[in-house]
Formats: sequence, C-alpha cells, structure tokens
Amino acid sequence: MTDQPPTTIVIAGGGTAGWMTAAALARFLENGFRIRLIESEEIGTVGVGEATIPQLRLYLEALGLDEDAFIRATQATFKLGIEFTGWREPEHSYMHAFGGVGRDVGLIPFQHYWARARALGVARPLDAYSLNEIAARAGKMHRGGPITAKSIPPMPYAFHFDASLFAAYLRKFAELRGVERIEGRIADVVRDGENGDVTALTLVSGETVAGDLFIDCSGFRGVLIEQALETGYESWTHWLPCDRALAVPSARQADPLPYTRAIAHGAGWQWRIPLQHRTGNGIVYCSSMWSDDEAAAALLANLDGEPQADPRPLRFTTGRRRKAWNRNVVAIGLSSGFLEPLESTSIHLVQSAISRLLKLFPARIIHNAERDEYNRQTDFEIERIRDFLILHYWANRRSEPFWQACQSMTLPETLAHKIDLFRTVGAITREHEELFTEVGWLQVLAGQGILPESHHPLADQIAERDLAEYMETLELLYRREAGRMQGHAAFIAAHCAAPPAN
Ligand SMILES: Cc1cc2nc3c(=O)[nH]c(=O)nc-3n(C[C@H](O)[C@H](O)[C@H](O)COP(=O)(O)OP(=O)(O)OC[C@H]3O[C@@H](n4cnc5c(N)ncnc54)[C@H](O)[C@@H]3O)c2cc1C
Repeated sequence: MTDQPPTTIVIAGGGTAGWMTAAALARFLENGFRIRLIESEEIGTVGVGEATIPQLRLYLEALGLDEDAFIRATQATFKLGIEFTGWREPEHSYMHAFGGVGRDVGLIPFQHYWARARALGVARPLDAYSLNEIAARAGKMHRGGPITAKSIPPMPYAFHFDASLFAAYLRKFAELRGVERIEGRIADVVRDGENGDVTALTLVSGETVAGDLFIDCSGFRGVLIEQALETGYESWTHWLPCDRALAVPSARQADPLPYTRAIAHGAGWQWRIPLQHRTGNGIVYCSSMWSDDEAAAALLANLDGEPQADPRPLRFTTGRRRKAWNRNVVAIGLSSGFLEPLESTSIHLVQSAISRLLKLFPARIIHNAERDEYNRQTDFEIERIRDFLILHYWANRRSEPFWQACQSMTLPETLAHKIDLFRTVGAITREHEELFTEVGWLQVLAGQGILPESHHPLADQIAERDLAEYMETLELLYRREAGRMQGHAAFIAAHCAAPPAN
C-alpha cells in the first residue's frame, strides 16, 4: 500500500460505452483508483445497439456476470448469425453465421475442398456445412457440448438485447463496486495551461470534476476528444456511404428468430432484431440518394409487427477519430468513430478498447509509447472491420444508382488484395488480431458471389468419391445435430425468460 492519493478516472458519458467502461474498470482496478461517471439524462443516449457478436460473452465472463441473469435483465434473445437478404441481388439471401464452416483436413482449410467439390459438381452451397446456419434457419438453439456425436463442433452464439436495459444493468454493477455517478451536463473542459492535458470538467451546475485520466464516452459529440482537443476525424463515407438511420420498435414475435436480419433496399438496408419484449427495427441509408420520407416508407412497409413509436432519426458520418487516445483522454464508443451497424461491431469495439486500455493502463505519467501502441492497435482493428463491411456494399449486382455507385468505388488496397487472393487461389489470410475469422470472410465472399477460380493442390489428394462422401457426411451430421436441438423460444422459456416488460 502507498499513501499516494487515488488516481481519479473520469468517464464522460453514460451510454453503453460509458457503463461498459465503468463496470470493467471497477472490476479490475480495485485499489488506488476513484472512478467517476458523468451523464446527462437531458441529452440521453443513442440506445440502439441491440445486436452483438459472440465475443460479448467474454466481457460478461470477465465481470463474473451470470449469463441467464443478464438475458433476463436485458430482454435478450440468442443470435447465431446474420442473414443478408438482397445484398448480392434482390431476393438472394445468405448468412454470415458464427462458428466454423465444414471442417479443415490436415493443413488445408475446408474452402479448398469445397471449391474442388464444386468443380466436380458434388458440393452443396456453403450453408449446408455450417452448424450455426442450419440451426438458425430451423429456429433452434443449444448451449454446451454436442448432442449426437463428439466430433460436432461447439455452436458459438451472441445476443440481441435492449441496449438501454444493458446500460442500466451495468450501472447497478458499477455503482455497487464504488463508481460514483454524477448527473449533469458538461459545459466546459478545463486544460492545463502548460501541457494541454485535461484537468477537470465543469458542469452546467458549476460543479467541477477533476481527474487524472479522462475517458470520453460522450457519443458522436466527442465532448473531450473533439470539442476540446480538436483531434480530427477521418471520414470513410466514400467507402461506407450511409449516413442516416431511422429506428423503430415493433410488437414482439412469439417465436423470435435466433439471428439478425439485414435486408438491402434501394439506397440502404434495414435491420430486424428480435428481443423478448419487442422487435428492434431500423433502416440505414444514404441521404444523397434517398429522402427521409423514402427511407421511412421502406422501413414501415417492412415490419413484422405493429410499430410501437414513430421512427427516431439518427445521423452519423462513418469513419474514425484520428487518435483514439490523445493526451490524457481516451475516446471509447461512438466518440472514437463509427462504422455502421451492418456486422454489429460497435459494442465489440467498446469491449476491445476497454481490454486494450487495461492492458496498456498508464501509471501516473502517460508515456508516448503506450499511447502510440494503443492507437496503432485501434487503427488496425477498425481498418480491418471497415474492409469487411465495404465488401458487402461493393460486391453487389443490384441495379439501383446507390448500389451501382458502390460497385464502382475504389477499394482499400488491403481489401482488394484479400479479394484477389480468394478469387484466384481460394486462400484467405487473417492477420494478427483481425476480428473476423477466415470463415467469416469465406461466407461473405461466397455469399456476395465471389468464388475461387482454383484451389490448393493438396485438396486434389483425396479421391473424388471420398470427397463426395466427406461432404455428404458433414451435412448429415450437422442436420442430425440441429434436429435434436430445442426451439429458440422453448430454450428461452426453459432457461432465461424475462419478466414481462412494463
Ligand atoms: C443506427 C445505429 C444502429 C446501431 N446498432 C448497433 C448494433 O446493432 N450493435 C452494436 O454493437 N452497436 C450498434 N450501434 C452502436 C451503438 O449504439 C453504440 O456503439 C453504443 O450504444 C455506444 O454508444 P455510446 O455510449 O458511445 O454513445 P451514446 O449512447 O450516445 O452515449 C453518450 C453519453 O454521453 C452523454 N453526454 C453527451 N454529451 C454530454 C455532455 N455535454 N454532458 C454530459 N453528458 C453528455 C449522454 O448523456 C450519454 O449518456 C448502432 C448505432 C447506430 C447509430
């Protein structure tokens, strides 16, 4: 123990990012820290982050949260993947399901055997070899070990949840562990006259909240990172052109689908996210191609239940903050940038930023080396996710002006290389800590209609008849496994049904 005063961490903002950060810091920085969070009920939150990816389970585990209690508290359902409808062309549909596709043989990834089997005419579409997709399309859910055969792989899953309830749930966790919540609107950011670091935040009430390290979770406003430090923003609208959204809840479905739906429209796309108490819907669109009224009409014509409110408008610019960590301010959440909700990565980016910050957590003096490393890792992560999202837009065969403009965009070199490698020789490489796995890329590349022209020569070593039998057996095994799973609604009812919403 030392007699030094505690290091004060001030979190500006209490949306999903603010409370996820507060809860994790409270859990891991137990001694020697004072954690304070300022939020303004008057301003409110974005509150539409409803679909997640399986990595969220690691966050829950790290905090020691019980999964079923979390599901009940947030009206959550299970998510086995995302279905993309109309992205390649109208009426076409494919899924980016979590988990593996097929099974690798020795050194060679499955897609090479699939490519050869396709050439021989003995392959089924890729979805026949994904346990998650077979289960998702059959409306099934299962957790834990395999049911029918030891060789069946685990089925990764994520959640759809109510983001506002999630923030409230984490707030309770954080406050129990000593996080101090301060209600109020930040009016001014006080900086050190010599080194330019932030020293305190002044609230409209006149209260001053001093700190050593500041986490900017103030959403698109970027109250500290941008309004005060003028860090700068790199726009990616030339690659990810949607800049507006409308969100609307609709009546609950008795049998919620265990997957997110992303349905392409004339100048954007629509999400459908089933929760226990309602369905979350929204449309993301490009304002230079579609008016707000056109977007609202497309959204309201495509709901699977009665709307429960008027569509709520949101505006954004896809891109990233030039430095996520600037001076003694770390931007986490929408203040650090926003891609778009297509692959449900925003909440994950909050989670990975928290984990990165904890790994590179500064002592009393912040060194450039740790800050630069944090920013380097942040840049790498978001650029690779950006590439993955661009692929969905670029590789389309639709005829509307919006989609045609997407077809003709110049791709980032990193993405162009990935596509070229897959198209020519069927190979997919995942660099360092890149978020999306080879099978994620495989499903979207193939789903968007990009297919390999050749395959790895080692895939030719298996006899044709054995290859056909192998492909058939995999499909049968997965179908049999999914057939024994419980229905999604029955699974929720048995394990984690939420109380009726107020
Ligand atoms: C259309 C859309 C759909 C999305 N869908 C998904 C999805 O499916 N999955 C996913 O992972 N993510 C999704 N996201 C992203 C997700 O909503 C956000 O990443 C997540 O909610 C984090 O937001 P945030 O906490 O950074 O910001 P916000 O929710 O905006 O919170 C900002 C906080 O800062 C406070 N604040 C701001 N200014 C001040 C001030 N001056 N004084 C005091 N307090 C202040 C506000 O009161 C609020 O508490 C979506 C985003 C959009 C726009």
